[in-house]
Formats: sequence, structure tokens, C-alpha cells
Amino acid sequence: YFKRILSISRQPFTQQSELIITQDITQQEQLDDAQITFVANVSHELRTPLTVINGFVETLSDIPDLPLEQRQTFLGLMQKEGKRMLNLLTDLLTLSRLERGQSTAGDFQQFNLSYMVNQVIEATQNISKGQHQFIIDVEPDIYFYGLESELYSAFSNITFNAIRYTPAQGVITVQLSRSDTDHAIFSVTDTGIGIAPEHIPRLTERFYRIDNARSRQTGGTGLGLAITKYALAKYHSTLEIESIFGEGSCFKAVLPVIEKEK
Ligand code: ADP
Repeated sequence: YFKRILSISRQPFTQQSELIITQDITQQEQLDDAQITFVANVSHELRTPLTVINGFVETLSDIPDLPLEQRQTFLGLMQKEGKRMLNLLTDLLTLSRLERGQSTAGDFQQFNLSYMVNQVIEATQNISKGQHQFIIDVEPDIYFYGLESELYSAFSNITFNAIRYTPAQGVITVQLSRSDTDHAIFSVTDTGIGIAPEHIPRLTERFYRIDNARSRQTGGTGLGLAITKYALAKYHSTLEIESIFGEGSCFKAVLPVIEKEK
């Protein structure tokens, strides 16, 4: 307990006694720990794809007459790993801008949130390639004031996750509606693998994943929900997560009052 809370330095005071100076370093220590963990995570995430790429480069240069088919496979895998690094760096930049309260680009403006949600759904359906069934219920012409790209990131991370953690034939329900209390509610419900209760409070932590292998396999960076959380917080919005392990999950964003276009 004392080791964690106090830094203790002993200095000779008189010949018979000594002066003990205590200082609360808990907060600083926690920040340092978080920083060290973060750097370790980023390094690990970048190291893995780089190792794969380097391995293939070596093979390709060692065996110049490798059959064309095998060459193509290796190049395809290298491209996939390169894309993974790019995704990670893009997510890191987005997150650090959000954390520092900086905007990505452009000014705030009023935009059609309903239209944007339909774009997110279209992008998700493209990735799903017909493997999932979609139920879509988007109230038209809900307007929002902010930076469209940030809301797009927040909503697409939730929606992409729904298909990534739902096996084929699963059902994804995407809804956007105005609530009675001058709020808009965006929700994505899936019939996927679900989340055990102990994980739910930690899902928005950077690099927190329940199943590392599954997340990587589906192209996850482990930063999606952290970005969603920061982006929503910027607009005084909240994220509610409900899930039943083995049955499915529901991610719901509640956004404050929306200005209507004149
Ligand atoms: P990742 O890139 O790993 O998906 P996220 O921050 O988007 O990172 O999500 C963190 C973790 O939350 C995921 O690794 C996954 O374990 C869990 N998760 C997120 N969305 C869902 C979902 N719809 N169903 C089940 N688990 C989910």
C-alpha cells in the first residue's frame, strides 16, 4: 500500500532520528503506467505486421524463381499487413486528435445525420457481402451540428463491429430515431457472439480486446470503441452497451438536441 501511494525519502535529521518526507505520487505513477502500456501496445501492434512483411520480402528476394501463384499469395499477404499498419496509424492519429480536443479537418457544420447513417449502413453491407441480414429503421432528416467525419467514425466503428462479431446469417438491426427528450438515438443490435458482463466496462479502453486473435483476423485495430467514446464525448453524447454472452449485443449512442435545417 505504501509503496503505491507514497514515495518516501529518508534524510538524516539529528543523530538519533531521521526526517521522513512523504509525497503522493499515485496519480503520476498511474499516468506513467498508462503511457508505458500504451507505447508497448503500439510497438507490439506494429511489430507483428512488419515481421510478416520482412519475412516475405526475404523469401521473395532469396528465391527469385518462386512460382507465380506463390508470389501472388505472398504479395497479397504483404499488402494485407501493410493495410493493417495503415489502419492502425490512421486510428492512432484520429484518437490522439480527439484526445487533445483537436478537430480533424474543416469546420463544424450542420449535416443530415440520417443520410450519414445510411452511408454507414451501405459501407457495412459492402463489407458483409450478403452474409448478414440487415434490418434498417432510420428516421429521415435528423440534423446534427458538428464535424461529420467524427460522427462517421463513431458510428461506423460500432456498425462494423456488429458484422465482425456476428457469424454469417446473423441479423444486424440499425436504428436512428428522435427520442421524446430532444435527443437522437443511434443503435446497432446484433445476434452475434455477445460479451460477458465483466468485459463491458473495459471495451472502450485503448487496445482492450476480448479475443485478440479474432479481432486481428477481422482487421480490428483495438482502437475502434476508444475512438467512438472520445468522439461521442466531444458532442456530449453517451454510449450504452448491453449484451448477453452467446446471444448478441446492443450498442446505443444518445446524442443531445439536434438543430433542424431552416
Ligand atoms: P477491435 O478493433 O478489436 O474490434 P474495438 O475497440 O472496436 O476493437 O472493440 C473492442 C473489443 O470489444 C473487440 O475486440 C471485441 O472483443 C469487443 N466487441 C466490440 N463490438 C462487439 C460486438 N458487437 N460483439 C461482441 N464483441 C464486441
